[in-house]
Amino acid sequence: MWDEESIEGVLEKYRRAGKIVAEVRKRAASMVKEGALILEVAEFVENAIRERGAEPAFPCNISLNEVAAHSTPSHDDKRVFSNELVKLDIGAHIEGYIADAAVTIDLSGENARLVEAAEEALKAAISVIHDGVSTAEVGATIEKVIREYGFRPIVNLSGHGLARYMAHAPPTIPNVGQRGGAILRENDVVAIEPFVTNGAGKVSEGATVEIYSLVREKPVRLPAARRLLVEIKKYKTLPFAKRWLPRESLDIALRNLEAAGVIRSYPVLREAARGLISQAEHTVIVKKDGCEVITA
Ligand code: MN
Ligand code: MN
Repeated sequence: MWDEESIEGVLEKYRRAGKIVAEVRKRAASMVKEGALILEVAEFVENAIRERGAEPAFPCNISLNEVAAHSTPSHDDKRVFSNELVKLDIGAHIEGYIADAAVTIDLSGENARLVEAAEEALKAAISVIHDGVSTAEVGATIEKVIREYGFRPIVNLSGHGLARYMAHAPPTIPNVGQRGGAILRENDVVAIEPFVTNGAGKVSEGATVEIYSLVREKPVRLPAARRLLVEIKKYKTLPFAKRWLPRESLDIALRNLEAAGVIRSYPVLREAARGLISQAEHTVIVKKDGCEVITA
């Protein structure tokens, strides 16, 4: 096990990553305006993380309206923001120690309550977290706040633990009350992320894919796939964007690696009834009597 000093060393890296995410998220949120290029905001986020001495833990997710997550621009994306509900989800890591946070920006001016419900659910969850709390209690707290607003939580999206080079580690932190659950312990690092909708309360996979991650390395024959694998390995097991990769024979190489089980894809996630979705997320370190929010 870790001694006291090395735990502090690790937590310090999480905190540095958290500070970078907080700062970049604030700047990026101010760039989300009608007419602004979506690609420009994503690239700003990823470059700003690198300029501050960290690396993106995953591609900047910019998900609109009924899309919950896994949406990032393509390399030649020409889309601009219009009067949408915009989720900005940002992750940075220092030596594999990840901070993950998200915010929703309402460009329509009509969905303030949906945004507020996610923020209040997140606040309430943070207020019940301490050493010994069960993830079931955290989920029930999130669900209660969201229902009080008259909306639904997304039942098949959850918060999660963070571990070195693992953007989604155990335990799962549900957005609804449930039986059982895991117990959070002092110095656990977890991301809490309520998703709120006026739709069905569930997401399903769409057709668009711009994000992948390495599953397991295997020998592949196709030269383009082999070359791509060398590129991909630098992201370790963390998700990467298609637009980060060299363009030559890219589609065939990605298809080949996915078919061989070397990489997996992350299709965009859409609300099942095409309801609007808001999201709020912070990464916290669990403490004896509470928790420390590292991405605020
Ligand atoms: Mn996130
Ligand atoms: Mn997350």
